[in-house]
Amino acid sequence: MTSETKYVPKEGEIVVVGSIPDCNFCMNGTPGPYDFATWMGPWANGCERHWIAYRVGLLGMGVGQLWITIDQVADSEPPTLEQTLAARVRAFDDAHGS
Ligand SMILES: [Zn+2]
Repeated sequence: MTSETKYVPKEGEIVVVGSIPDCNFCMNGTPGPYDFATWMGPWANGCERHWIAYRVGLLGMGVGQLWITIDQVADSEPPTLEQTLAARVRAFDDAHGS
C-alpha cells in the first residue's frame, strides 16, 4: 500500500531516474527529488521545502526538474468517458447473456 503521488513523466520537467539522491541542504537522508538551479548559482538536489526556498523558477529547461523513480510513474492516463461507457455496456451485456 503506497500513498505516494503518481506522476506522468514529461521531458525536461519530470524525469524517471534509478534512485533519488539525498537533499543537499537537509543533509540527514531526506530525499531530494528536485534537481534545480538555486538563486545562489549552483544546481542542487533538494527536498520540496528546500526547492521552494532556493529555486529560481518552477520546472523546465535551465530551471529544474523533478526526479521520480519508476514506481512513481502513473500507470496510465485516466480512461475517457467513451472507454468508461463502453466498459459499462459490456458489463451489462455480459450480465444479460447477450
Ligand atoms: Zn531539504
